[in-house]
Amino acid sequence: MNTRVADLHLHTYYSDGTESPEQVVARAHRAGLAAIAITDHDTVAGIDQARRAATAANIEVIPATELSADFEGREIHILGYYIDDTSTTLRSRLEEVCHSRKERILVMLEKLSQRGISLSFADVTEGTHALCIGRLHLAMALKKNGFVASCAEAFQKYIGDTGPCYVSSFNVTPQQAVTCIREAGGVPVLAHPYILNSARDIERLIADGIAGLEVYHSDHTRAMTDHFIAIAQKHSLVITGGSDCHGLGKARVLMGSVKVPYILVERLRQCAQSSRL
Ligand code: AMP
Ligand code: FE
Ligand code: FE
Ligand code: ZN
Repeated sequence: MNTRVADLHLHTYYSDGTESPEQVVARAHRAGLAAIAITDHDTVAGIDQARRAATAANIEVIPATELSADFEGREIHILGYYIDDTSTTLRSRLEEVCHSRKERILVMLEKLSQRGISLSFADVTEGTHALCIGRLHLAMALKKNGFVASCAEAFQKYIGDTGPCYVSSFNVTPQQAVTCIREAGGVPVLAHPYILNSARDIERLIADGIAGLEVYHSDHTRAMTDHFIAIAQKHSLVITGGSDCHGLGKARVLMGSVKVPYILVERLRQCAQSSRL
């Protein structure tokens, strides 16, 4: 019997996780995971380190990234699995995104300053290793500097998707994100699909080239999971799942809370291989 399990959604401190790739691998080892995917937002910087640490622990590392896109005014995330993380085209595209992320945070800081909250970009990046700065860094800086009591409050009051200081402006369409992943040899998978309103939204994204759904996720209820399994089956999509662990960046460390059977890794790998033929 094959009881191997995997977590296909993990962040390191190169994006908005709080742990190094080595710490993530060590935690995966303790959680009994046979395979993990490093899915940092808009960067592949942690993958090589994770791979090296994982060899000793006999854990398989799936190279991946999590791209942001604007879908009809909403921010969605698209995971790219089995991307070629050595691709210079991919790396330079991601660098551009990280640059525009910095510009975006600067606009959010400006909006916060209009509400009497004075923080600099250096305050946001202080003590981080991140190459890709996001809202979780901003939330942590707001907390550290005493403007809010928790990261959750920062999102609730200021920088959540409908908050007064939120700025989207990724200027990336789902189609562009999908193309970026496919050109790097990867499989595009819609992350945490509960953020969308309807099956129709998912069908639109399938038309844009999404090949999989992250059915299992730490924010999904059992009913949501069942709903997304049905959609994935109807459209012959690959099924993935993961905890979306950000280390201590979220209210609790999520690794271990979602474990998917290894067969899903095999199917995902086959999908990557057949799309490259
Ligand atoms: P960004 O990519 O900069 O838009 O930030 C997205 C990240 O912010 C997500 O991956 C989460 O880590 C975090 N995030 C978004 N909304 C919330 C929320 N309501 N509470 C806590 N973290 C959140
Ligand atoms: Fe994140
Ligand atoms: Fe996400
Ligand atoms: Zn994530």
